[in-house]
Amino acid sequence: MRTLGCKVNQAEAESIAAELLGRGVEIVDEEDAEIVIVTTCTVTGEADRKARKAVRHALRLPAEPMVVVTGCLAAIDGAELAAFGDRVVVEADKSAVAARVGALVKRTRRGKGPAVRAGAAFHTRAMVKVQDGCDAFCAYCIVPHARGVPTSVPHAQVLAEVERLVSAGVAEVVLTGINIGRYDDDGLRLPDLLRAVAATGVRRVRVSSIEPEDVTEAFVEAAAETPAFCRHLHVPLQSGCDRTLAAMGRRYDTAGFAEMLARARARLPGLAVTTDVLVGFPGETDVDFAQTLTFVRECFFTRLHVFRYSVRAGTRAAALPGRVPPEILATRAAAMRHLDAACRRAFSASMVGETAELLVERIIESPEGPMAVGTTREYLHVSAPGAGRTVGEVAEVRIAAMEGGRLLARW
Ligand code: SF4
Repeated sequence: MRTLGCKVNQAEAESIAAELLGRGVEIVDEEDAEIVIVTTCTVTGEADRKARKAVRHALRLPAEPMVVVTGCLAAIDGAELAAFGDRVVVEADKSAVAARVGALVKRTRRGKGPAVRAGAAFHTRAMVKVQDGCDAFCAYCIVPHARGVPTSVPHAQVLAEVERLVSAGVAEVVLTGINIGRYDDDGLRLPDLLRAVAATGVRRVRVSSIEPEDVTEAFVEAAAETPAFCRHLHVPLQSGCDRTLAAMGRRYDTAGFAEMLARARARLPGLAVTTDVLVGFPGETDVDFAQTLTFVRECFFTRLHVFRYSVRAGTRAAALPGRVPPEILATRAAAMRHLDAACRRAFSASMVGETAELLVERIIESPEGPMAVGTTREYLHVSAPGAGRTVGEVAEVRIAAMEGGRLLARW
């Protein structure tokens, strides 16, 4: 299974994998597979390009598998994907993918199953999709066109899924959604869901990405009262220039964002905050970009995800004047990535000497012997001696050193 794009896609791919396993479908490497499932993203023109590339790659595999394409690009441009050839099956409805694959397996079975790679993290951390869709229509974003209006997975269904995962030994659940702050099951909102999920006894609960306006007092209060909540939030900023934020159709300005951060950090000491920055939005000047760099520095993010603006047909931004030339786009992206590296280094360095809770996701062989590799509650990747350790174990470590950007810890 090739899964592109956001954590919602990953969560949906995991659900498809689980359903396939339940249907007795064998999971193998893609080189051996009869069927490859590609879950696509269409958030930018670049995402579309990667999706098409993944489909072409699957079609070129020597075993000549059938390729089932789902996800957001399949939802908005299925005909184009279907035109890739007879071995391509487009299934825009993700909830129907496992059944569709099951039927194909019956037709094509030669003793092998689809290439669903669940991965080790599947057993330690699980994505739980609680919400889909968005109606915010940010100017650059195609997602509302691809995913439709917000919908929420019923509270009881989310809790049943988390309980199932906990009894299967999952230590951390990541609540995901396209716009998770819109979670609303008959008046039960995200803070209520967070409390209820924690009450299942899950060791750690993380929220995948939350819009700035949804980091409300009620949400911060619920997070502060929930010991299982991982003190890490991914809050997309996109720009640190108020004029650009307004042009993007975002629903906050820099003062509001800074106020939200201060409020959350005051109530949640040690909170790590990561963000998305979109550089080169139409009309963004050198001065606007310089303001963004300054504001991003002032926010003390622990990590940045940097995106270059690319035109997405069907969005409002596609019709905006003031396209930023590619060479300037590249320079701005490089400057922002440089700042990202500095943010990561500063945060990692600040953690040396501190204790943290490590969830072991993999045991790898290294010249120094086995190493346990995993993530802390702050979403830092950390390695510790692996002898006698097991995948899925959660234990306290002291972060001892930073070597070439890697954090090394002792139990
Ligand atoms: Fe897209 Fe904006 Fe909705 Fe996020 S909030 S999915 S960027 S429209």
